[in-house]
Amino acid sequence: MTFAREHADASDKKTPNIMSLDVARPTAGSHPKMAEELAYKLESLVMERGWPIGQILGSEPELIEQFGVSRAVFREAVRIVEHHGAARMRRGPKGGLIVTAPDLRAVQRPTTLWLDYANVSTSDLYTVRSTLEMTCVGIVAANLTESGAAELRAVLESERSADLEGIREGASHQLHVTIARLSGNPALLLFVETLAFLTFERTHDLGFQHGEFADVSKAHSAIVEALIAGDAALAQHRMRSHLSAAMSYYQQRADVNESFVADA
Ligand SMILES: [Zn+2]
Repeated sequence: MTFAREHADASDKKTPNIMSLDVARPTAGSHPKMAEELAYKLESLVMERGWPIGQILGSEPELIEQFGVSRAVFREAVRIVEHHGAARMRRGPKGGLIVTAPDLRAVQRPTTLWLDYANVSTSDLYTVRSTLEMTCVGIVAANLTESGAAELRAVLESERSADLEGIREGASHQLHVTIARLSGNPALLLFVETLAFLTFERTHDLGFQHGEFADVSKAHSAIVEALIAGDAALAQHRMRSHLSAAMSYYQQRADVNESFVADA
């Protein structure tokens, strides 16, 4: 279980040292390096043009000519750009490299994997979540609209009616993600949602009980109540307590599960 690694011996060689984590660097002039550089150029072009979704940047022969690369390098670059979700190649007479919208989930998954691989501790995870979510709560308390309030109430409602299956599927993270989205700051949404996913990955197999979820639901209601009242300080206080309680709970639970496994 992922969670157990947190308690692993510090000398465990399988635990990567964050300072030494780096990307592989292909040698200059090599195929992958040239393709990577071209991919960056093509992505820069998309950013400069302001993401005109559906627009053709050029046909394959045009772009090969424009950037002065071989077909092999161009195709490898397209593979990278497609993987990043910035554009895709449409074949056929009216084809070409078309600008696409990157998928938020596709961006989050590698980040979640990297953080887990880098062995981010649960307390580090919650330190960052707490900082980001305090900011979200402050913004939302000051700017909540009627439709935003309705959205928060709807999330609470679906939480209350969630069965154990729904809870195990991550129903309890929806409120955190919704508050991040209502902040209107895409950077907050990206990181809060990514960290909520990682929290979920690490905790969904801890044997969450329905009664315990009722406490979470109550804490969520209290946070929403403060947000709707526009009381930023109270909402932040409640969010901080809630996250800190959740962290202690998860850590205790992980310890119990671990000793259970060790005894078995
Ligand atoms: Zn929560």
